[in-house]
Amino acid sequence: MMRLSEPQYSFEQTIDECILGITGNDSLRQKLITSKESLTDAGIKYTSAIDTGELYTILPVNTNENNDPVVINTLKKNELVKAYDQYFRPRKKPARKIYDALLNAALDKCPFCGGIGTPRNLDHFLPKAHYPQFSVLPHNLVPSCRDCNMDGKAENFAKNAEEQIIQPYSDNERFFIEQWVFAKYIASSDGEPGEFEYHTSPPEGWSEVDKQRVQKHFDDFNLAKRYATKAAEQLGTVLSQINSMEQENIDISVIQSVLLQPGIDAAQFPNHWQKGMYQALIQHYIDSQRHE
Ligand SMILES: [Zn+2]
Repeated sequence: MMRLSEPQYSFEQTIDECILGITGNDSLRQKLITSKESLTDAGIKYTSAIDTGELYTILPVNTNENNDPVVINTLKKNELVKAYDQYFRPRKKPARKIYDALLNAALDKCPFCGGIGTPRNLDHFLPKAHYPQFSVLPHNLVPSCRDCNMDGKAENFAKNAEEQIIQPYSDNERFFIEQWVFAKYIASSDGEPGEFEYHTSPPEGWSEVDKQRVQKHFDDFNLAKRYATKAAEQLGTVLSQINSMEQENIDISVIQSVLLQPGIDAAQFPNHWQKGMYQALIQHYIDSQRHE
């Protein structure tokens, strides 16, 4: 739900850097060299499938704990996983600069939850256990926070169009520039601060598949609860500002324009939790005035 700029390194460059770092495994080195073209072809299919929302059409490798199938050309599953574990991720390997560049490009904001978590490592968007051919494909390596933990969802990949969560690198622009995360403020009757209920409400014109995709994303990352928690933390401060302005007899329309609207305007992107929170507060004051 938060857009990441596309990786600056190509799949081919990444494979080359992995190859450079291989020591003592000449067989894997040779196989990667001879399979490079097949791998990059698969990578092109992957990136164009993101663009059309059809990543789910790429089928997982048929595998279980006991076998090690050939995945692409002569490369076996475990060799492709090893390319990531031993020749891409370790700090002393040449490919590590690509790992770090991908991680740093997130600017400490996890793209899955919209920046409430800080990514500490890269996760595989399509899990490497099922899609080993993409184990070092830059577009498949996404910075992810501990709570979103894509690698912890290794069995949870889309089997149809509507199960696809949002791909941060190059999914359709509508998911990033149109608002689909909203909140409602539920005031309490006992004078205590109320609470926020977050939900998805995509534009009417979206396809059913796209509507279901954002709902799936919202549910998978537990965003309703996580956003409500963030908003609750900030609510006390906002309410006390509103209270002191009300005590000075400042009109609610002025409070709205000098306090609440700036909260909406300050949101870093359309589906930031803060935007939904301030919109919900404005709606709450409009509704309560109507009832006076
Ligand atoms: Zn996250």
